[in-house]
Amino acid sequence: MPPEIDLARRGLLRGKIGATPPVVQLPWSVDWSAFVSGCTRCGDCLTACPEQIVVLGEGGYPTVDFLRGECTFCQQCATVCKAPLFRPTTEAPWRYKAHIEASCLASAQVFCQRCQDSCEPRAIRFIPELGRVPTPTVDDQRCNGCGACVQDCPVGSIKVDGRSVALG
Ligand code: SF4
Ligand code: SF4
Ligand code: SF4
Repeated sequence: MPPEIDLARRGLLRGKIGATPPVVQLPWSVDWSAFVSGCTRCGDCLTACPEQIVVLGEGGYPTVDFLRGECTFCQQCATVCKAPLFRPTTEAPWRYKAHIEASCLASAQVFCQRCQDSCEPRAIRFIPELGRVPTPTVDDQRCNGCGACVQDCPVGSIKVDGRSVALG
């Protein structure tokens, strides 16, 4: 088989395997279809991440798992990658934001403010309400999508993803 046909086939196959973008792509990574075309699945970004939050997702492509920890935006994953799969780190790493689900303990009138304590940019605030426990709210302007709050929520009520915002 001519090498160019082989390459085209491999490209198609990769496109198929990684058709669905993960919930969280690596910080500064390019659009998912371009990422899948160029990523060799070498695993360098996994070993480079000091927080060990980069894991293999569908098709063996890297993704971020905030249940393992937070992204410190250290840039190691972007720096170690030999392929041109990352935007300049002078740009914003991503547009992910935290979302608090209805299963939050405050909805059941159980006092908990752990997420507030884990949020360094002070994006999570609690709104006092007479006769009820305060409920958390996320300030999108402050949230940088680091994911620190995800692991710290005792009932798994926080998701960080790109819903309602376009991924850059
Ligand atoms: S920026 Fe650093 S902490 Fe965040 S995913 Fe990349 S290597 Fe891990
Ligand atoms: S993702 Fe990070 S910045 Fe956003 S609310 Fe959670 S801890 Fe705060
Ligand atoms: S840590 Fe979880 S359960 Fe506790 S207030 Fe925050 S979102 Fe709710």
